[in-house]
Amino acid sequence: MSHLETMRTVLVIYTGGTIGMTRDKVSGALVPLDFGQVAKHVPELAHAGIRVEAVSFDVPMDSSDVSPRHWRSLATTVAECYNRFDGFVILHGTDTMAYSASALSFMLEGLQKPVIFTGSQLPIGIPRTDGRENLLSALMLAAHQTDGASTIQEVAVYFGNHLLRGNRSHKESAQSLQAIVSPNFPALVEAGVDFMIETSTLWRTPPTADGLQLHPGMRQEVAWVSLYPGMPLDLLRQTLEWPDLRGVVLATYGSGNAPTSQVLKDLLQEANQRGVTLLNVTQCGHGGVHPELYATSHMLAGCGVIPGHDMTTEAALTKLMHVLALTDDQGQIRDMMTANLRGELTPQDRSRAEAHGPAGAAGL
Ligand code: ASP
Repeated sequence: MSHLETMRTVLVIYTGGTIGMTRDKVSGALVPLDFGQVAKHVPELAHAGIRVEAVSFDVPMDSSDVSPRHWRSLATTVAECYNRFDGFVILHGTDTMAYSASALSFMLEGLQKPVIFTGSQLPIGIPRTDGRENLLSALMLAAHQTDGASTIQEVAVYFGNHLLRGNRSHKESAQSLQAIVSPNFPALVEAGVDFMIETSTLWRTPPTADGLQLHPGMRQEVAWVSLYPGMPLDLLRQTLEWPDLRGVVLATYGSGNAPTSQVLKDLLQEANQRGVTLLNVTQCGHGGVHPELYATSHMLAGCGVIPGHDMTTEAALTKLMHVLALTDDQGQIRDMMTANLRGELTPQDRSRAEAHGPAGAAGL
């Protein structure tokens, strides 16, 4: 067998973002490049020992313009090309990368190959760019194998020397070169002189699943409501009264607390009875919802609000869109939203509740 035949093959899907931009010499503005021009800025690609093919969105886009239609197009491309490539790298703007990576993790069930998102804070065409390292390391991790199988078998994000689980990622900084973080789950890989692979963190498809299944559906009739002191309840009422509404991600205080307001309770109960799925996530940057801790969150549970555990808002929202597209059955929706489908949540740890004393007594 020739060297070329044994080479790992990776498909790069280029969507746009800062990584693929350069400064226009005349106007000074950032303008998008096509992937051929991007690759010219990374001559090391030719020596990486990986066969790289690329497809691009017709017009490279800022990720602020990305919508479920684009997630569907990305997931479909991966599914259609799945058997021909060992791994996939998606070049994507950082602004909504965590949403896209979360969405693809739900759309692609049973992955046994890597789908790695990357991008950069600085355009590839400028001297201090982080894009070159991000692209090269993402490609090498997409091609990486252990005992003849792909080392990474999930949707991930490579950024700032770390490979993170896609549905645990979050854009934390508009300034730092470590812009994307994973607040509630350790990095899968730390890239130093070597790739330090944390084998115990890697997601593996449960053995019963057979092959890759594409779930292109995403219900967009969902809302994200973040509570704040003094929030006019009419604002919430108007959202909850939207006739098409199917689900709401409620971003609450601390470990999942909301004001003890009878009006709020009535509004949530009424929406829940109309079949609107209500999901509780924390506004905090780290940690999750522990509905047993405070009486203020007992009220939410009593209204049928589902605990989102330690999911990021990005994962909660895209999981809700995905699950609502799969079923209308309220029991199944609750079961799937609380289950760990793709490594997006840590099932509730009883020990923390126990450490805080009996349910309902703590902190009041
Ligand atoms: N606005 C850009 C985008 O998300 C920012 C970036 O790529 O870093 O497409």
